Amino acid sequence: MNNSKIWLSSPHMGGTEQQYIKEAFDANWVAPLGPNVNGLEQDLENYLGNQTHVGALSSGTAAIHLGLILLDVQAGDEVICQSMTFSASANPILYLSATPVFIDSEEQTWNICPVALEQAIQDRIQKGKKPKAIIAVHLYGVPYQIESIREIADKYTIPILEDSAEALGSSYKGQKCGTFGDIGILSFNGNKIITTSGGGAIVTQTAALKEKAIFYATQSRDNAPHYQHSHIGYNYRMSNICAGIGRGQMEVLDKHVALRRQMHDFYVAVFASIEGVEVFSTPNDDYFANYWLSAIIIDENKTKGITRETLRLALESENIESRPLWKPMHLQPIFFNYPYYGKTVAENLFENGLCLPSGSNLTDEDRTRIKKAIHTIFKHQ
Ligand SMILES: *Cc1c(COP(=O)(O)O)cnc(C)c1O
Repeated sequence: MNNSKIWLSSPHMGGTEQQYIKEAFDANWVAPLGPNVNGLEQDLENYLGNQTHVGALSSGTAAIHLGLILLDVQAGDEVICQSMTFSASANPILYLSATPVFIDSEEQTWNICPVALEQAIQDRIQKGKKPKAIIAVHLYGVPYQIESIREIADKYTIPILEDSAEALGSSYKGQKCGTFGDIGILSFNGNKIITTSGGGAIVTQTAALKEKAIFYATQSRDNAPHYQHSHIGYNYRMSNICAGIGRGQMEVLDKHVALRRQMHDFYVAVFASIEGVEVFSTPNDDYFANYWLSAIIIDENKTKGITRETLRLALESENIESRPLWKPMHLQPIFFNYPYYGKTVAENLFENGLCLPSGSNLTDEDRTRIKKAIHTIFKHQ
């Protein structure tokens, strides 16, 4: 029997990527600018709609860093951040010598909890400092509680940096994720729903803000014949080669979303007869998830002691990759000493949650192996 590795999420080329790369080579546009960069930005603007502007960058992390700069975060400022996320959401706060303030998740979308968020804002203001920005994340492609978070942000006039790295193709009430923040960011890393091998983008509400982001991303060169600088610069622009991959990937984005959603349906069916396992799903039809990763939560009181670790190790022995959910930032050694608001929702999700293979390139044979492995573990329930 075929026992090749089944990955959590691996790159899935559509077929036309190499054509765009060939064009770049033929025209010698092998640089961090060129027709593919402009073309990818245009494709993304068309896709996201809502009159947004998109700047292609070297990574999602770079986009968060520049996003915080555009929101005027400076050394000593406080920035609120969802605790349950990938560390790249929070690291740029430290790049700027600002202070992260971490917030618990709520149980419906696993994202930033509105109640803890408002408590935190009030408490920080009372302690003498209004937070400069709120970083909210659409984990695993499930939108955060868009309306309640926006309402709180507006009530205290704090801008939102929307980390949509995992949510390209997701939407809320028909509006695409990436367009809800004062600034949005996307990632095209190798494991994301589409990839440019490495890359990201910043999404802004005005052309002027996009231009400013690109100015910073290309070493902040003032308008002069010599090299003249009045602002710190960064080397964060996307290469025209990577953007060529991205243009090809944009052609198959909707197909990838449909296939990832089929993987989610597959897991709903696989676990339907299994007591104590819930597949993470959107709370209602206002939410449309790309289900970048399918995730489950295990209640070991109902599974006769089978935990996420039992399942993870059993899958690993079948050469099937799975991974615990993001370990919350407030539990990470590098972020241990920063303020945290909330209870133990994120912590419990981390203890009991598992991400399962979700790639758009998984085959029927892969699914048969996954299903068999899961049913074997749970059959003695
Ligand atoms: C992947 C990811 C990032 C970082 O994107 P890169 O392109 O890898 O730098 C940021 N936030 C979240 C939630 C992510 O999943």
